[in-house]
Amino acid sequence: MVLGELSGSISRALQQMSNATIIDEKVLNECLNEITRALLKADVHFDLVKKMQINIKKIVNLDDLAAGHNKRRIIQQAIFNELCNMLDTGKPSFTPKKGKTSVIMFVGLQGSGKTTTCTKYAYYHQKKGWKPALVCADTFRAGAFDQLKQNATKAKIPFYGSYMESDPVKIAVEGVERFKKENCDLIIVDTSGRHQQEAALFEEMRQLAEATKPDLVIFVMDSSIGQAAFSQAQAFNRSVSVGAVIVTKTEGAAKGGGALSAVAATKSPVIFLGTGEHMDEFEVFDVKPFVSRLLG
Ligand code: GDP
Repeated sequence: MVLGELSGSISRALQQMSNATIIDEKVLNECLNEITRALLKADVHFDLVKKMQINIKKIVNLDDLAAGHNKRRIIQQAIFNELCNMLDTGKPSFTPKKGKTSVIMFVGLQGSGKTTTCTKYAYYHQKKGWKPALVCADTFRAGAFDQLKQNATKAKIPFYGSYMESDPVKIAVEGVERFKKENCDLIIVDTSGRHQQEAALFEEMRQLAEATKPDLVIFVMDSSIGQAAFSQAQAFNRSVSVGAVIVTKTEGAAKGGGALSAVAATKSPVIFLGTGEHMDEFEVFDVKPFVSRLLG
């Protein structure tokens, strides 16, 4: 299911409720069921959706609401708050510190925007006075190193990779070691997003994480993956411990509701959004505008 549909269903449910003259338990239940269906179809974890439903019912006690109160607004607010809660894992992700070396490993399927996001992340920090560096540990896709090199050169960020070496672990370890010696404080490791066998991809991620001991693993997902978000994020999280999520291509039609699934699957917060192809089209994630857009 595409995310436009998710937000469409939620908007429709709220709209139907808005049209009802009397908002009673039946109307509320219908509205919640519609939202539940939409979230489940978008592959948000069943337990979370269930929890959201229970919480909303607890908050919105129709009998207790004094006559004349704007029940619709209260229900809408409750839904809004619950969606915000679903995106809030309650624990912030590891935050690198300027001047202290951190290794950040990026994972995600090919086409998710991983390589682009590695450079955006490096560039974002470079502008704030950090000393980032990029390591291309994707030896599977021909052209991966060239792409990273091109991006890095444009942003004047040091990079490491090889056209000859086929062992991604070797390259990653060499790159991380080199940039540690050069006192880079943000060493970013870009990884492969595809393999002949899916199992091989996840095994490679596990080996890379074991060898480079990243302080943070970031899962990159395309905002339009929808249904696949939960299983994708879960699969990566099983081989490497994902600590944060970045959602790309959020400037398009897809509203990025799959982020709810990725957060649920990894129990990690969304930290940035990709908002375009350019290096500076990158924003710090802010939960409220994101949820507003999801409902809008
Ligand atoms: P990778 O295979 O995961 O490394 O993905 P790439 O970084 O090569 O990106 C795949 C495509 O998505 C490229 O054409 C990028 O320019 C594009 N892309 C990445 N992030 C964004 C984004 O936030 N918005 C848009 N519109 N395109 C993006």
